[in-house]
Amino acid sequence: MTTTSDASNAPQTADGRPSARRLLIVGPPGAGKGTQAARLAQELAIPAISTGDIFRANVSGQTELGVLAKSYMDKGEYVPDSVTNDMVRSRLDEDDARDGFLLDGYPRTLDQVEALDGMLTELGSELDAVLLLVVETDAVIERLVARGQEQGRSDDTEETIRRRLEVYAEQTAPLIDVYDKRGLVRRVDGMASIDQVTASLRDALGA
Ligand code: AMP
Repeated sequence: MTTTSDASNAPQTADGRPSARRLLIVGPPGAGKGTQAARLAQELAIPAISTGDIFRANVSGQTELGVLAKSYMDKGEYVPDSVTNDMVRSRLDEDDARDGFLLDGYPRTLDQVEALDGMLTELGSELDAVLLLVVETDAVIERLVARGQEQGRSDDTEETIRRRLEVYAEQTAPLIDVYDKRGLVRRVDGMASIDQVTASLRDALGA
């Protein structure tokens, strides 16, 4: 069994895959979580599970969940915990998440941390690491404004971006302390190039 040379320093399971496979990626809006989650998950052969993407798919599909989620997303507010937790619970129950997952954009509140703890206990597993992308606020605002123009995301307007950053600081940044106390947080400089950030994340998992 071969692995990519970049992952060769990481602790590995018997089949040659890195052993850290139940992961979160955390950071403010615009930190690059989605881009990095997709890359890392592919390398680790685990699903990247983005709550934002699942909400957006529901918005596009005009489902009941999508209509509800949109009313919060467009204001830069969080979708209620009970709705979000139920959605993640059913996603983690799917077969492809049994051997690992990379959650992107979840948990975002202390209530969600507790809910995730409960889900993992039920599944008989626990988190291996929390990857934190460290970025500068001014730079992420610029990135998000650019993304809004390129991709037409309705929550990437300057007003909504500012609100999303406030909500992140109020409700999500405190989670880092919680996971720090558990010794799970691995900090990575998110201001480097996309390839460099991916390499640092890989290293962080090997550490
Ligand atoms: P994202 O793509 O992760 O930036 O998420 C876009 C939007 O989806 C957020 O601004 C929230 O409105 C909603 N959202 C995504 N994940 C969550 C979550 N874990 N809890 C509540 N709302 C969320």
